Amino acid sequence: MEKIAVITSGGDAPGMNACIRAIVMTADQNDLEVIGFGHGYRGIVEDLNQPLRPNDMRLVSQRGGTILLSSRFPEFKQDKIAKQAATVLDQHGVGALIVIGGDGSFRGASHLARFWQGQIIGIPGTIDNDLAGTDTTIGFATAVDTAMEAIDRIRETAEAMARVFLIEVMGRHAGFIGLHAAIAGSAEAMLVPELEPQPKLADLADNIRRARKAYPDSSYIIVVSENLWPGGIDELSRALGQATGVTCHAAPLGHIQRGGRPNAQDRILSMQLGQSAVHAILDGSRTVMIGIEQGHVVQVPLHLTFQRDKPLDQRLVDLQLGLQQINFASNDA
Ligand code: ATP
Repeated sequence: MEKIAVITSGGDAPGMNACIRAIVMTADQNDLEVIGFGHGYRGIVEDLNQPLRPNDMRLVSQRGGTILLSSRFPEFKQDKIAKQAATVLDQHGVGALIVIGGDGSFRGASHLARFWQGQIIGIPGTIDNDLAGTDTTIGFATAVDTAMEAIDRIRETAEAMARVFLIEVMGRHAGFIGLHAAIAGSAEAMLVPELEPQPKLADLADNIRRARKAYPDSSYIIVVSENLWPGGIDELSRALGQATGVTCHAAPLGHIQRGGRPNAQDRILSMQLGQSAVHAILDGSRTVMIGIEQGHVVQVPLHLTFQRDKPLDQRLVDLQLGLQQINFASNDA
């Protein structure tokens, strides 16, 4: 096996470039040639290939986004399109494909494996951290840092004006960014999909009212996961405002959470996973994800990463739920 290919697919995540660097450097040390296809699976089908050499890897690790570009390409679910990709990979003499992406990208990789005989290795690259079989994913730590910084900034103005803010964070259908950002930002309340039972509007409103009464000059921040509240946080802010008589400001953080320079943790993780992916190829692994569990690099069958839900760390959920309990007793009397 002499040639490996790399794509970045789905939502870009800070650290993907550091991962590409580690793949290219490790491959070079082992006499493997690397090509990249631009725009994820679409780039394979359309043969948008480029050589990736060690000298091209200078100054890429510190950049956000992905130098290989990414895309959403739903057409890849069709058998004939995946077969086309297999043909392009064979035409280039590619023996192994590394897919850096999230759960959708790994579904795509499993789909491709039905039509292509080469080795396929997944590397978890998504800010959402919603892949089973790995404690964390490339980009998650940076996204949490970014959300925390944004919350800190909103906190300052909210505190100056004694305002209530609902801050919406990303996560697709998982609450990892929400939970971690809520703890790091000392949020007064948190709404993430995994909470059982989900807090009711009346409970949230009651809490805001009591906080306003006890601490009238203070800010109040609720971190809310995206795709959770019907109608989104604009609707939730309106409903809470109506229920409490207090203006509630909606602040969706949006795509700023995806961009930016990867933090040190994400760069180190990315390089560990990238190097290990090339070693896994040399060892003959196929259709696995390279993940990290308790500091150790692990290999997990690709289908297990997206067929099961990954739970939040209950200790962290308890930490946030415990810390957000405000003692109103003295003011209730
Ligand atoms: P993120 O969650 O960070 O956005 P992701 O990898 O989950 O990343 P998706 O857009 O869900 O992002 O998937 C990336 C790409 O993988 C899709 O655009 C499509 O090309 C391919 N893909 C997703 N699901 C499938 C599937 N079931 N079969 C074949 N290909 C798929």
